[in-house]
Amino acid sequence: MTRYIFVTGGVVSSLGKGLASAALGALLQARGFKVRLRKLDPYLNVDPGTMSPYQHGEVYVTDDGAETDLDLGHYERYTGVAGRKSDNVTTGQIYSKVIARERRGDYLGATVQVIPHVTEAIKEFIRADIADEDFVVCEIGGTVGDIESLPFLEAIRQLGNEVGAPGSLFVHLTLVPYIASAGELKTKPTQHSVKELQGLGIQPDILVCRCEHPIGRESRRKIGLFCNVPERAVIEALDVDTIYAVPRAYHEQGLDTEVCRHFAIESPAPDLTMWDQVVERIRQPDGEVTIGVIGKYTSMIDSYKSLAEALTHGGVANNVRVNVNWLDSEIFETKGAIHHLENVHGILVPGGFGERGAEGKIAAARFARERTVPYFGICFGMQMAVIEAARSLADLPGAGSTEFGPCEDPIVGLLTEWTQGNRVERRNVDSELGGSMRLGAYPCHLLPETKIHAIYRADDISERHRHRYEVNITYRQRLEEAGLRFSGLSPDGELPEIVEFEDHPWFIGVQFHPELKSKPYDPHPLFTSFIEAAVAQSRLM
Ligand code: GLN
Repeated sequence: MTRYIFVTGGVVSSLGKGLASAALGALLQARGFKVRLRKLDPYLNVDPGTMSPYQHGEVYVTDDGAETDLDLGHYERYTGVAGRKSDNVTTGQIYSKVIARERRGDYLGATVQVIPHVTEAIKEFIRADIADEDFVVCEIGGTVGDIESLPFLEAIRQLGNEVGAPGSLFVHLTLVPYIASAGELKTKPTQHSVKELQGLGIQPDILVCRCEHPIGRESRRKIGLFCNVPERAVIEALDVDTIYAVPRAYHEQGLDTEVCRHFAIESPAPDLTMWDQVVERIRQPDGEVTIGVIGKYTSMIDSYKSLAEALTHGGVANNVRVNVNWLDSEIFETKGAIHHLENVHGILVPGGFGERGAEGKIAAARFARERTVPYFGICFGMQMAVIEAARSLADLPGAGSTEFGPCEDPIVGLLTEWTQGNRVERRNVDSELGGSMRLGAYPCHLLPETKIHAIYRADDISERHRHRYEVNITYRQRLEEAGLRFSGLSPDGELPEIVEFEDHPWFIGVQFHPELKSKPYDPHPLFTSFIEAAVAQSRLM
């Protein structure tokens, strides 16, 4: 039987509802249960793919090609369960579905309304594509009190009612602020938030209270009393030094025990050794390295969420702390700025879009190549490294990307036709922008006796993509003669997936996003290898 756990948030946003859901998923999994995590996003976009990274943070891509909320990245990093299209829904998707049904005549005769038609569509989503999962943890985006979240809250209220207490549980995440001038923790915001939820017909079963100071028995009792939950179901969620300490911390506060008690299921205490080992390595590193990340959205680190985590995982694998210098690529477009890169042990140019700052990324790739500093180019970062090689080594000064307009040598060009499984995808300059990139998992063949082959120790791999442009295969020979090896290709040999310099200690560009599949307890081999190269570089400096 599948049980539903609904996670809502109150008081303020950014309390880490996604992380809390992910950690709860990990705890239930560590107790031997099969879990699935889902997110309901109240905004009107069909998916976050068309939103600015400054607005929304990272767009997380699943194997099956969905562009989703970054919380799905947390879910996957904590549980190892690969997210799917069916794990993230938005108001935009729900309404598109309802309106399409109305046009088809499915509701013939009825006035189409939020209740019951929209709420039915939401409930269908929550229950869809589930097989033998013991738990579905379902996070509701936004904060209780938002206009947009109302249909979602109403839908989970109805669903909770339909399956009853043995089939559902409501977790509410709140903030218990510390008022320094009074030297006190305040429970009132939590009380108000729960009242708001109760007003919508939802009585939370468990409260997870984020706080900077321990809540203490008295405040716990008070929260329990006013919010109508047992004291033991008031979980203190104190700030921790690393996000990977959250599963252990929540377990010690009794979160998973309370969930099992609610559902009246007996299960052995979870084995958290894996998490303890990760945390110990993060807390006690044996050295450190500094990586310069040259990007466009560096003032909004959430835009690079999975990347930041994957770098940490690479550090865990090598037992070092990874410090990241987030550098705006535009600064490298001015003379003399390259000194910012003099003290880093590795340079990473991540995914990106648009012309702004592109020349700065090209300058960073040149610096890495000439100074033999480890270079890791991801997607846009690979494309810029190839342009740099074409200009500097292959005598193609007019090399560029058609993403920025027409150019003399379109080393990177719009991808107009490719195969996805046994389907041919076609695009042109007039195609819609939403959901039309090369998205999701694609196979890639690695050439023998290359660095990349030694890193993956495999002939064939699968990685996730999200891009519209592609390195132009017709320049392969010219670039290979200049020293840039095309070491990974699509199975039909048409799409360059990986490039590397043979005579450089570590210079690799990949068209895909390896950061999306890295886990703290199973770091991605490319990040492990890149950080290892950075450690070697730090010894030379
Ligand atoms: N803008 C480039 C493209 O669309 C790279 C995208 C990316 O880095 N994810 O191909």
